[in-house]
Amino acid sequence: MAPRARQVLIVGAGAFGISAALSLRRRGHTVVLTDPGPLPHPDASSTDISKIIRADYGADGFYAELADHALDAWERWQAGWSRPLFHRTGFLLLRSRELRPGDYEYDGFTTLREHGWPVSRIDTDTLERYPAWAGGPYVDGYWNPRAGYAESARVMSLLIAEAQELGVDVRPGLRCVELLDSDAGVAGARFDDGSEMRADETIVAAGAWTPQLVPELQPVMWATGQPVMHFRPTDRQPYEADRFPVWGADISTTGWYGFPVHSNGTIKIGNHGPGVRLEAGDPGEVAPQIIDACREFLAGSLPGLAVAELESTRLCLYCDTFDGDFWIDRHPARKGLLVAAGGNGHGFKFVPLLGELIADVLEGRENPVARRFRWREKGRERIEQARRPPETK
Ligand SMILES: Cc1cc2nc3c(=O)[nH]c(=O)nc-3n(C[C@H](O)[C@H](O)[C@H](O)COP(=O)(O)OP(=O)(O)OC[C@H]3O[C@@H](n4cnc5c(N)ncnc54)[C@H](O)[C@@H]3O)c2cc1C
Repeated sequence: MAPRARQVLIVGAGAFGISAALSLRRRGHTVVLTDPGPLPHPDASSTDISKIIRADYGADGFYAELADHALDAWERWQAGWSRPLFHRTGFLLLRSRELRPGDYEYDGFTTLREHGWPVSRIDTDTLERYPAWAGGPYVDGYWNPRAGYAESARVMSLLIAEAQELGVDVRPGLRCVELLDSDAGVAGARFDDGSEMRADETIVAAGAWTPQLVPELQPVMWATGQPVMHFRPTDRQPYEADRFPVWGADISTTGWYGFPVHSNGTIKIGNHGPGVRLEAGDPGEVAPQIIDACREFLAGSLPGLAVAELESTRLCLYCDTFDGDFWIDRHPARKGLLVAAGGNGHGFKFVPLLGELIADVLEGRENPVARRFRWREKGRERIEQARRPPETK
């Protein structure tokens, strides 16, 4: 029997929120999607010029397999788009020492091979195919041809337009300030203009802002600022995708990753690491030491970019969870509330799949993938501690 159509309120129109809105609307539910706006929101993690789409997850076959499905979906989406927004450039993972079992790169290579992916090892000879890298410290690594990047902000705009066409009530200009609690659970949300919206189901998909709205998550979910820098090379030719594909350079130890030159003439370089813990809403800035470290990395690895003009920087917010997994589940104690967040710096590639996962959870359908993203036991123990009133003296 088809589940009863529900009135669903989604708080947050990033990758998780928009994907949920599309799937739920397609399944016949009434959906309102709220966000402070403008959309796509400039501060959202999802709103960036580009995101890597790859299945390279070290030894973690679960995400590799999921990303395999996501890549199929990206290919299908691209086939229906009139302009290229998913660029299949391949992914070059370089290492300055020989790969060893236990390395993220070695394990990624082995896992993908086991799953039948056409990955191949890189050495100093094969590196010559990528001249910007030749002569640097890299001696090993692998090449994954089935990967690339998406023009994420443009994809988000397209998905928002699609949601509107499907009949999702998209409401930019509404910042949720509070969930409406009733005896029966959560009955909707209150917004910064004083208005209230009632719903059968409320999904908080507010990315790094989620723990502010669901404070009991704070022990297990938090915002970290992660640096992104945009360089403008004087000559873009060496950095075109066919000779300078999406890359990670000692990414498991140094965090450096980047993209080929974008259509606006800039090259995006980021550092994936512990980041700096922030309150979401605090814009934060890329520290000068990070920019110096990036220049130093470029001087040793990509000398052609070492003196390129740094056009802009951004501290982009990850919504981290204590174990690095997404968080897609009903709240164990507040009926009518679902959380769909915890992108952990790797969620965007799954935007074609997230909505179906969220919709299955909302409809109570068994979904083996969603099990990994459940309200975790470890989390629940910590959450119960956090919700306990402070001891009185
Ligand atoms: C620097 C960086 C690099 C990344 N690189 C990659 C990558 O290469 N590949 C990849 O797959 N992933 C990558 N990610 C991760 C990916 O961007 C995220 O996992 C994903 O975009 C998270 O989507 P989200 O919907 O949870 O959050 P967001 O995109 O942040 O969306 C949250 C939305 O909630 C809204 N909101 C906030 N507060 C409220 C409120 N009170 N009321 C209503 N709405 C509210 C915000 O305005 C925002 O629009 C990266 C992230 C960062 C920061």
